[in-house]
Amino acid sequence: MSRCYNFSAGPAVLPLEVLQKAQDELVDWQGSGMSVMEMSHRGKEYTSIHENAIRNLRTLMNIPDNYKVLFLQGGASTQFAMVPLNLFSQARKADYINTGAWSKKAIAEAKRYGTVKVIASSEDKNFSYIPEFDPSMISPDADYVHITTNNTIYGTVWPSIPDTGSKPLVADMSSNILSQEYDVSKFGLIYAGAQKNIGPAGLTIVIIREDLIGKALDITPTMLNYETHAKENSLYNTPPCYSIYMAGLVFEWLLAKGGVAAMHKENVAKANLLYDYLDRSKLFKGTVEKRSRSIMNIPFVTGSEELDAKFISEAAKRGLKTLKGHRSVGGMRASLYNAMPIEGVQALVDFMEEFEKANA
Ligand SMILES: *Cc1c(COP(=O)(O)O)cnc(C)c1O
Repeated sequence: MSRCYNFSAGPAVLPLEVLQKAQDELVDWQGSGMSVMEMSHRGKEYTSIHENAIRNLRTLMNIPDNYKVLFLQGGASTQFAMVPLNLFSQARKADYINTGAWSKKAIAEAKRYGTVKVIASSEDKNFSYIPEFDPSMISPDADYVHITTNNTIYGTVWPSIPDTGSKPLVADMSSNILSQEYDVSKFGLIYAGAQKNIGPAGLTIVIIREDLIGKALDITPTMLNYETHAKENSLYNTPPCYSIYMAGLVFEWLLAKGGVAAMHKENVAKANLLYDYLDRSKLFKGTVEKRSRSIMNIPFVTGSEELDAKFISEAAKRGLKTLKGHRSVGGMRASLYNAMPIEGVQALVDFMEEFEKANA
């Protein structure tokens, strides 16, 4: 077996221990004589997998009792529509903060169902920072306020959670859920596609305050109504059972590692290793303002497209893979999700130093 260090932004690296456990259980899950992929989603075996995953996520994120955890499909992109369909309950107006490509997609989708006001944006500097936010910016009649906590493509993160007072704060947490502690009670709704920091693609997690359920617009399709899934504990129809099983294994792995606080400490150490090098390198530099730097996705450039390409191809030969940046930033991007071990970041920095010397 040979495993590389995979810096992909998503789908992304999973913990080796989790993959090995899944391998062990693949053809015969715990004496059931069948794979999790072959089980009825209403049987007692799958029910225990489903319930454990929900319970462990509640523990990891310290989710208050008045919030529901939903296991949905359709990716974070489907949430761009579900959020307005379900939360445009009064004025059919919402405030969005535009911090990158994913925020823009969320804005475009919400505009189909109501009025969207972009109350802050960092588009003027290619989304290289998180804009200032003040509660006075919020529209008095907004049904909710939407942010993207971590911007996967640009490598920025909100340094603190904006205070939206009585307005429900909705957060796309796809690329940094479970990477640091968040006070769930500060949010009305959190959503995340699983394939960045949780598990395989196919599962979308929604954490929603109960009072926001049951007020969807009349045109809302049954499957896009949070109430449908909340009432049936995400078993209205067949859920993405195998992805939920894998996510459940990741939750167990996180608990064994000491939970989100312990993970955050490790993530900061990993990110600092790379940022410290970027700050002293004469060849490579980060593209994000220091106060907005993400610990999950770290873009960097040499300033020469030719050198960038050479770096990416030589790194891949050393087993440091998927370092190519998104086309809207260029250069490189290292995604350091929970499952990336610190040894992987050290190997990357060592190779960057070597490359810098050879190309000085
Ligand atoms: C990847 C990503 C998305 C899109 O997720 P899908 O599950 O592919 O729809 C949305 N928002 C953020 C912040 C992302 O990183």
